[in-house]
Amino acid sequence: MQGLWPMSTAIAHLLSFPDSTGHFGRFGGRFVPETLMAPLQELTDAYEIAQKDPAFHSELEQLLHDYAGRPTPLYFAERWTERLGGAKIYLKREDLLHTGAHKINNALGQILLAKRLGKKRIIAETGAGQHGVATATVCARFGMECIVYMGSVDMERQALNVVRMRLMGAEVRAVTAGQATLKEAVNEAMRDWVASVDHTHYILGSALGAHPFPMIVRDFQRVIGIEARQQILEKEGRLPDVLVACVGGGSNAIGLFHPFLGDAQVRMIGVEAGGEGILPERHAARFQGGKLGVLQGTKTRLLANDDGQIELTHSVSAGLDYAAVGPEHAYLEDIGRVEYPYATDAEALAAFKELAHCEGIIPALESAHALAHVSKIAPSLPPSTLLIANLSGRGDKDVEQAARFLL
Ligand SMILES: *Cc1c(COP(=O)(O)O)cnc(C)c1O
Repeated sequence: MQGLWPMSTAIAHLLSFPDSTGHFGRFGGRFVPETLMAPLQELTDAYEIAQKDPAFHSELEQLLHDYAGRPTPLYFAERWTERLGGAKIYLKREDLLHTGAHKINNALGQILLAKRLGKKRIIAETGAGQHGVATATVCARFGMECIVYMGSVDMERQALNVVRMRLMGAEVRAVTAGQATLKEAVNEAMRDWVASVDHTHYILGSALGAHPFPMIVRDFQRVIGIEARQQILEKEGRLPDVLVACVGGGSNAIGLFHPFLGDAQVRMIGVEAGGEGILPERHAARFQGGKLGVLQGTKTRLLANDDGQIELTHSVSAGLDYAAVGPEHAYLEDIGRVEYPYATDAEALAAFKELAHCEGIIPALESAHALAHVSKIAPSLPPSTLLIANLSGRGDKDVEQAARFLL
């Protein structure tokens, strides 16, 4: 459905977003308590200055290279390609990064910003624990105090990540309100920030929240797409035809997509969590019936009932289990530039197993949603099609859970 996008008018526009008020079309913005308005502007200004400072970029680049392990390989999945019998499939190996997922890209960028702002204390929210671990990691590396808010239900489900965070010196605070998962953890982190913002930086973990977070997180994740672009040009001498990534808040997907947004011939697919199917409270696919609304600082597409109450969500992968999608994705869907299908729990688990079997790579269950969609579309695409799927993280954290379903 590539032809849907009216490229000539929109390209410049697409790459310039967000506007000065933090909007992506009618999505995004800054919906926060009054006390956070000035600090968010201060963060926006500091970020703009950092962006223009070569010293900031060289410090970040060195950390990404020596500490996190960039560049990550672009790997030709030969056996999986053969098995599916269609498009030529490449995997962008974010799973090989330090701490096991793309989240470290953003955490490193933001800790450098916090340092520039003179902040000594870091807070973060975490669902599955991957962002909490990335944040605890960079705090240890920079000797900063670190507090991670985590739902008590998630702490039980992801006990190993709680240990990892504590080992690195972070304090993990249990949040017991409501569903006691990610949404409540974000509420607690915001509450902390309102009271502590003069000396505390909030390292938000996805392309979500109030402006400037969706922009900052995206920019720190763009390294995925920038590398992939250069790597595919080196290997194949041309741009890819299709990009596929899973979408929780949307940071790994926008990181891969953004450097290609202006290339009208590149088809982009963001895959949401279809859970047990598109039934109320059994999935986290915001583009399947989601509404326009405001959640945790931003206006975007979210899952809510007719009274505007946020609905419960479900996914086998904690990292995709959230009621709202990042505002830039809401915009890209709205204008038809990116497609947003979903994969169910069962489809993701099947892809998890398939990649392990035929490539010797155990993907994160989040990433397995993207892979599940690849296995649906690749067989009917001609072998000349170049497809890049983002392997956003490794599946070590999911092995125990998968064992219950697969063995
Ligand atoms: C957190 C996480 C995701 C989902 O977050 P996005 O912001 O949508 O990228 C996906 N994959 C992995 C491995 C994660 O840890």
